[in-house]
Amino acid sequence: MGSHGWRTTARTELRVSRGFHLDDLDASATPGYDGDKKSGAKDLALRAERLSDLQERLYAESRAGVARNAVLLVLQGMDTAGKGGIVRHVLGSVDPQGVQLQSFGAPSAEELAHDFLWRIERRLPKHGFIGVFDRSHYEDVLVGRVRELASPEEIERRYGAINDFEARAAASGIRIVKVMLHLSRDEQRERLQERLDRPDKHWKYNPGDIDDRELWQEYREAYDIVFERTSTDIAPWHVVPADRKWYARLAVQELLIAALEDIDPQWPAASFDVEEEKRRLAES
Ligand code: AMP
Ligand code: MG
Repeated sequence: MGSHGWRTTARTELRVSRGFHLDDLDASATPGYDGDKKSGAKDLALRAERLSDLQERLYAESRAGVARNAVLLVLQGMDTAGKGGIVRHVLGSVDPQGVQLQSFGAPSAEELAHDFLWRIERRLPKHGFIGVFDRSHYEDVLVGRVRELASPEEIERRYGAINDFEARAAASGIRIVKVMLHLSRDEQRERLQERLDRPDKHWKYNPGDIDDRELWQEYREAYDIVFERTSTDIAPWHVVPADRKWYARLAVQELLIAALEDIDPQWPAASFDVEEEKRRLAES
């Protein structure tokens, strides 16, 4: 059973299955959720409490030195898909002290001098934290593939390297939640148009976004290959229809809650004698 307007869990509903193709999924759909924008906003607010409670428990474990787990949310998607909105509206409801946010842009000269995973590995979340990757190592097989930034042999090698890396991270206690925000080409046009029309959104606009937009179908194919090669039991991909921002936020919130519920963090036991401290306080 799901919670609130969910007919099933977001996790089962959105996990990519074998032979999945992005072109087969309607980006404006709201899979698994019976509700509209209004109930979606209400559920988001309600479930924010659950997310926040679980995150606080996880963080408390880290402060007590007993955390053995972390969550890593990997966010991928075309420009304007809503990665920033997820950070603001979903992660925005938890204590920022416990969140490690990391954005990945084009690699620096130093990063390029290392293996593509070098800059990623060192930014994995510490135990007790929720890490968020706004873009990730997957760019190295997405833009890397589409723009031929590495040889075909190197691109080919990377899928296996990613699976090995994620298996190691998972074995170290990191629960990996991989999300692709699936946007339609028409919706992207509208969002880019809005960024151009509104002076308060110009800062979000990047002329290079049009260059990637022109390679839309190539990116689609590169994503399909990513799902085929790197959706593993330990770190499966979830494709979240993102034309409706309210749905995407709700779905990612549920995926995070499910990952934290798997960890099941507990309030750490006091490292002092509670009764004794009460007595001392009363006498002070
Ligand atoms: P944005 O997330 O829109 O601020 O832009 C970040 C840009 O960095 C995007 O155009 C990405 O394609 C690019 N980028 C991120 N990671 C890589 C990478 N590993 N190699 C090349 N370009 C990258
Ligand atoms: Mg961009």
